[in-house]
Amino acid sequence: MKCLQSLLAAKASILLVYLSLLSTTTYVAARPKFYQKNTTSDPWQPFHKFAGCHKGDHIDGLAKLKQYLHQFGYIPSSSSSSPNFTDIFDETLESALKQYQKNFNINTTGQLDNNTVQMITRPRCGDADIINGTSSMNSGKSAHTNHHSVSHYSFFSNSPEWPDSQRNLTYAFSPENRLPNNTKAVFSRAFQRWSAVTPLTFTEIDSYPYADIKIGFFVGDHGDGEAFDGTLGTLAHAFAPTSGLFHLDGEEEWVVDGDITKSKSSTAIDLESVAVHEIGHVLGLGHSSVEDSIMYPSIAAGTRKTVLADDDIQGIQVLYGSNPNYNSSSSTPSDTAKDTNDGGVHIVDWHWSLTTFMSTVVFLCLLV
Ligand SMILES: [Zn+2]
Ligand SMILES: [Zn+2]
Repeated sequence: MKCLQSLLAAKASILLVYLSLLSTTTYVAARPKFYQKNTTSDPWQPFHKFAGCHKGDHIDGLAKLKQYLHQFGYIPSSSSSSPNFTDIFDETLESALKQYQKNFNINTTGQLDNNTVQMITRPRCGDADIINGTSSMNSGKSAHTNHHSVSHYSFFSNSPEWPDSQRNLTYAFSPENRLPNNTKAVFSRAFQRWSAVTPLTFTEIDSYPYADIKIGFFVGDHGDGEAFDGTLGTLAHAFAPTSGLFHLDGEEEWVVDGDITKSKSSTAIDLESVAVHEIGHVLGLGHSSVEDSIMYPSIAAGTRKTVLADDDIQGIQVLYGSNPNYNSSSSTPSDTAKDTNDGGVHIVDWHWSLTTFMSTVVFLCLLV
């Protein structure tokens, strides 16, 4: 009898192991080899305590929020060339918050209300929203931010672009990252979004030094003055044409395959969504206030946004013109750039089918 009980217990534990395997392989994406176990936590988490603060308040750590707003261009360098901010909620902070709120379509209260703090703490692109105080997400545009026909795309200062002689661009991955093919495929799909609506083409080559666009995952300070900050916070950054530098934070939990919306992780970031955004910068686009646009600066963990919005398409076509095959009457770019992630899904599906098959066999054996 005892023997039968232990046999049943053993069968039950085997079953549990297989069930847990099932639950992980369905939605947890493959982490590239460069992924390192979280060494730091969300750097902007402490900002939540500032919710409800007003002008005149003195709160420990507020200087870090000012540093954040300085980093993204809301407190210009001229106000504080060597940022030595105080913890006092002063007029500079209030005015920076108003500009931030305007750019992110939040009521311009100049206060740290809940909506503002929620947006500030959302993971985002490391590129500034305002560069040298001249380039803004809303600059020169209508204030009717909720009207879909209003464009909010922007360019870097002086609108740099790839020259006419360079319409067939090459890209390469940092050899040190040794990326697996399914991760490279994510970038290929991301480039396709932009080539579908412009005359540009993108071809992967092996030579990193000679590629027009150089893609790499880095951790912390990596030599360009734009250090990464560990899990969440800034996710990636890219430089204006014709730099071609496109860097991603190697400490993010990048999701390469599978349906990220089913991930239970609070730090899962969709790689393709971020890649499409950063390529926009590589090509010359700045940030946009249109929340549905690819060039909107932030993206919540566990979400996916890979289809170019009209705002993105209008912006990029100002720089490069349209792809002759692009049908502008359609709201989606083309059949080749629909919101699918074929490569990744195939891999996960294969895993899923195999695991399902094995689990079914084991389950049937246990029943016998
Ligand atoms: Zn960006
Ligand atoms: Zn960098």
